[in-house]
Amino acid sequence: MNLTDKFGRPITDLRVSVTDRCNFRCVYCRSADPEKHMPAQHLLEWDEYERLVRILVGMGIRKVRVTGGEPLVRPGVEEFVARLKAIGVHDLSMTTNGYLLAERCDKLVAAGMDRINISLDSLQRERFERITRTKTFDQVIAGIDAAQASPFRPVKINAVLVRGINDDEVEAFAEFARDRDLIMRFIEFMPLDADHSWNREMVVTAAEIHQRISARWPLVPVSHERSETARKYRFADGKGEIGLIAPVSQPFCGHCSRIRLTADGKLRTCLFSKEDHDLKFLLRGGGTDREIENEILSIVAQKEKGHRINDPGFVPPSRTMVFIGG
Ligand code: SAM
Repeated sequence: MNLTDKFGRPITDLRVSVTDRCNFRCVYCRSADPEKHMPAQHLLEWDEYERLVRILVGMGIRKVRVTGGEPLVRPGVEEFVARLKAIGVHDLSMTTNGYLLAERCDKLVAAGMDRINISLDSLQRERFERITRTKTFDQVIAGIDAAQASPFRPVKINAVLVRGINDDEVEAFAEFARDRDLIMRFIEFMPLDADHSWNREMVVTAAEIHQRISARWPLVPVSHERSETARKYRFADGKGEIGLIAPVSQPFCGHCSRIRLTADGKLRTCLFSKEDHDLKFLLRGGGTDREIENEILSIVAQKEKGHRINDPGFVPPSRTMVFIGG
């Protein structure tokens, strides 16, 4: 089966959030206030995730990214990765803040994970610790070292630049990519922060980042799949790659191939969906695989044409990234 939405977009990518918990409190994502986590019984069990992913793979999902919250804080995630690999997921990856990666990297490799993305929002220890509200810079760098020493390829580093906070580090991040021969991806700040402080002036656009990096080091476009979020560039004169992800200034919804499964068993058809769709009631209520498939088909049929961030009257979703699964 090929899962396709009503605009003809093939749905091939699934983001699976395995927890709403995170050991970081990044300022552009979470609030400084204590957060209420979902009670354990609301979270999907590994068997429930596995069943849903198996059904979805049968419907045409080829790429699965395990995320959160912070996926490495949920015990058993490596075994879950191995179970996903056994289902036959074509491309299996994870997004992590890297804090627990150095000690877990070998297990993830052994479990069959293909690729890894690590978030890193500053190369300056003190600033990094202010953004994440943690004291974890050395551990995250050790996590990146471990990923680069492992068979994971490519290793991608994600940074969210926020004007006035870390936008002066564009060139430093580009140098980091060149020195370490890795893919440095810049994600535009989206209105998904818990504090609702997002505004357009805080967004550092992909165009600005491209212009600043290419003024120093000529960039050469690299081809990409239509549904890929990043526009990719290599350096004309050296190693490393840059990815620019511009959901705000250059939305790529027209080729969106993604759906998201939240930790409490809701399917979301867009990061910015006003509502999500419960699958847990079928999983826990004796639903057959056929019934779940039919429910997924009807949910995907409701996938939005685009995210509408740039429409007047845009209202951000009530769930933030840490709850949706980035
Ligand atoms: N804990 C993992 C991590 O730190 O990568 C995975 C979950 S995190 C929510 C996934 C990604 O979402 C991170 O790269 C993070 O920087 C990004 N993110 C969170 N809030 C965002 C926002 N308001 N705008 C853009 N990206 C955001």
